[in-house]
Amino acid sequence: MSDRQFLNYIDGAWVPGSGSDPIADLNPADLRKVIGYCTDSTAADVDAAVDAAQRAFPAWRATPAPVRGRICRDAARLFEQRAEEIGRVLTMEEGKILAEAQGEVMKGATLVEWFSGESRRLNGETVPSEMPNTFAYTKREPLGVVGLITPWNFPMAIPAWKIAPALVAGNTVVLKGAEQTPWVTELVVRAFLDAGVPPGVLNLVQGRGATAGARLVDHPHVEAISFTGSTEIGHMIYARGASLGKRVQCELGGKNPIIVLDDGDIAMAVAATAKGGFGSTGQRCTATSRAIVQRGALDAFLAGITEAAHAVVPGDGLDPRSTMGPSVDEDQFGKVQEYLQIGKDEGADVLVGGARATAGDLGHGLFTQPTVWVADRSMRVAREEIFGPVLSVVAVDSFEEAIAVANDVEYGLTSSVYTRDVNRVFQYVDQIETGMLHVNSPTIGGEAQLPFGGMKKTGIGPREMGTQAIDFFCEWKTVYIDYSGGLREGNLY
Ligand code: ADP
Ligand code: MG
Repeated sequence: MSDRQFLNYIDGAWVPGSGSDPIADLNPADLRKVIGYCTDSTAADVDAAVDAAQRAFPAWRATPAPVRGRICRDAARLFEQRAEEIGRVLTMEEGKILAEAQGEVMKGATLVEWFSGESRRLNGETVPSEMPNTFAYTKREPLGVVGLITPWNFPMAIPAWKIAPALVAGNTVVLKGAEQTPWVTELVVRAFLDAGVPPGVLNLVQGRGATAGARLVDHPHVEAISFTGSTEIGHMIYARGASLGKRVQCELGGKNPIIVLDDGDIAMAVAATAKGGFGSTGQRCTATSRAIVQRGALDAFLAGITEAAHAVVPGDGLDPRSTMGPSVDEDQFGKVQEYLQIGKDEGADVLVGGARATAGDLGHGLFTQPTVWVADRSMRVAREEIFGPVLSVVAVDSFEEAIAVANDVEYGLTSSVYTRDVNRVFQYVDQIETGMLHVNSPTIGGEAQLPFGGMKKTGIGPREMGTQAIDFFCEWKTVYIDYSGGLREGNLY
């Protein structure tokens, strides 16, 4: 038992929220373990955080961008130094195994480091004017106070990759972290503070989405919202933000397919599917949740993935023998169990798993057996996001059918193909409806310097990561300087 409280950070001080209903922070590997309590924030706490961010904005905006970048560089170094400590907390709160948790922290550090370098490249352009004696150029400006709303599944990397470009661009920030992972969110903020982010520039509000999150979206002085989370909430926030004239960026759900063609390397495809399907307990937005397999490869693929699923060892992520952790909380776990029932009711043919894992002490946690079933393309389990270790295999006759099945969902985050046929590779690149795609490698992963995001219902607004992320957090000014010294002749329109 722990009565540790996870507080807000507003205007340079750690303070409790003004709500009266703190949220228990439980270890999903063993619900008997209470990690602490996430403070309950109300609209008044959000207002205080936004006020602080507004007051801090003029000085932060006037701080040279490379100086802002240097602070982020130092934060990246701190994340590297603290990867083990933050990783352990991440495993306790979110459930993913320690190697994945520490890998996430190192990934987050790389992203922050890359954005720190961009502080020296907040370039505009000089552009030739149509008029003589005129200098025309563009420059960037920060937006003001920006709101960041983040989920529990990458509780270190996602806040880090939103905070860094927002700060580098000169904005001040109010972060609303996920209520399931308040300790990790606090450690992310502490690293930026220890690196030298001044009071008021980065504020944290912990608590529930419907209260604290909704107020952040509504607040008249929040210029932009960057959201990662569920499709349902994201679409709501987008509509609300648009009605208030705000800039909104949403990164939402996925139903990411791996396509395995007859001529592909089946062993490699199996390994990639297992990694993408069961890694992080399937709780990645880039997780592989469908394998679309051409019939000539089907038997070998099913034999391989069945063996790979049997080899997965669910357990507490702090135990080095575990290779897969639990679902993050009762809600998420309940959703996975519900889909296991839906799949069975729809007639999916279960090859491995299909139930909760209860061996030994696992019954105290939120563990599901890695599950593989053969499904029809029309079944809900082959079309809807499950966010658990559940893989739906869909058999197809041809490349054309594979692409049609892959595109026949409302999501479009990421995908992958296994083939050695160069023509198929390029046809896939042209025809697939996903924002990121991989050839002969898993559906997961993304590099800092490249845009990250999806098509269709998955992504709204400009991409994250890469220079696109900086663009989201900047306004453009277009400047015309007339040095002719006289009144212009001719049409000006
Ligand atoms: P999940 O259901 O997987 O937790 P959510 O989309 O509900 O995903 O949550 C992602 C983030 O959005 C969390 O920080 C959550 O508190 C926040 N959130 C949830 N509902 C709202 C809302 N109505 N307005 C603003 N933020 C919200
Ligand atoms: Mg929710």
